[in-house]
Amino acid sequence: MSAHHGLSSPGAIAEKGELDVETIRRDFPILSQRVRHKPLVYLDNAATTQKPRAVIDALLRYYETENSNIHRGVHYLSEVATEKYEKARERVRGFLHAESTSEIVFVRGATEGINLVAQTYGRANLSAGDEVLISAMEHHSNIVPWQMICDEKNARLRVAPIGESGELDFGAFEQLLSPRTKLVAITHVSNALGTINPIRQIVQAAHRLHVPVLVDGAQSAPHLPVDVQSLDCDFFTFSGHKVYGPTGIGILYGKAALLDDMPPYQGGGDMISSVTFEKTIYNKLPYKFEAGTPNIAGAIGLGAAIDYVQAIGLQRIAAHEDHLLAHATAALEAIAGIRIIGTAKRKAGVLSFVFGEIHPHDVGTILDQEGIAIRTGHHCAQPVMQRYGIPATARASFGLYNTIAEVDALAAGVGLVREVFA
Ligand code: PMP
Repeated sequence: MSAHHGLSSPGAIAEKGELDVETIRRDFPILSQRVRHKPLVYLDNAATTQKPRAVIDALLRYYETENSNIHRGVHYLSEVATEKYEKARERVRGFLHAESTSEIVFVRGATEGINLVAQTYGRANLSAGDEVLISAMEHHSNIVPWQMICDEKNARLRVAPIGESGELDFGAFEQLLSPRTKLVAITHVSNALGTINPIRQIVQAAHRLHVPVLVDGAQSAPHLPVDVQSLDCDFFTFSGHKVYGPTGIGILYGKAALLDDMPPYQGGGDMISSVTFEKTIYNKLPYKFEAGTPNIAGAIGLGAAIDYVQAIGLQRIAAHEDHLLAHATAALEAIAGIRIIGTAKRKAGVLSFVFGEIHPHDVGTILDQEGIAIRTGHHCAQPVMQRYGIPATARASFGLYNTIAEVDALAAGVGLVREVFA
């Protein structure tokens, strides 16, 4: 087993800047599987991505040779585990281009990142009559935590509408910003529609009124280069499992000044610098937000995943996925009865569609018989479905290892669906 398999394979990077997808695919053991007697065509990357050997090896190596608790032991293994965990934090800092590792908090995933901000920043800053502004294309995890804290504080959740193509109505968004707005929470890329939101513009508009912005990066971190300093967002969160890393680990980035002012999220070990029954002094950033033994292996695995995608290059990954998306869009549009949901000018990674009167679940089941994995349902974005007056969509979503041949298999599979229902 090579420690740097995939990373050190120069074949993964073709000379012309295009991805050598066949070489990349060999880094992902699961992709060579057959399912239902057919080669696996995995097009459910927006739900979770597969893991390269480099990530699997990092997890294995950790549990076989490095496992120990961090930040507390004087012994050798504890030093090793602590160093690896903190190195992973530095990798995430670089990945997001944050100024400092003190702004990088390890959490369980995007869901926990958003809940953390709602329960700390939200609880400390929202009062009756205040508003939190989101958009109509949010995942439930960027809706419900705000509803919970708004209910508690008698604050109001406002929702900026989207147009028919699935783009944010920016004019309406700007009009909803007011002195009552205490926070904007918005997705970078919609998991149901694929829309890429103009985050810089959104941040600029919000900052004119001194309103901080939380960006849900669950669907952008895997597909686009992210630079939190250039976006100038105040919080940014993403999940490790969607960027080829393990489940149960994710990141909350926050500007240091904001994080410093926020109360802790959970109390416990590691988040304190001293405790007496009379008074507890909290630890410095980012440890103030990391109570208890964290997912050490997950953080190290996420570090390996970031190394992996950075060795390939996010620009290259984005270009490859754009190519797949354009090809898939054209192929499905050519099939009579297909309606694509989400036709924004700027999209990433996601193709949602409905097929005449056929229920998306039936589309997914027939494709599954062909070994093709897509997602069907409301994609944890029920208000998006309500916006389009549909119960569900079928969604194909792409990753760096997908091929044009797989997109063609999807189109052929959808053709088969029509035959079945003819
Ligand atoms: N936001 C968006 C846009 C998502 O797509 C997802 C995952 N589907 C989440 C948040 C939540 O991510 P997780 O379940 O990994 O916490």
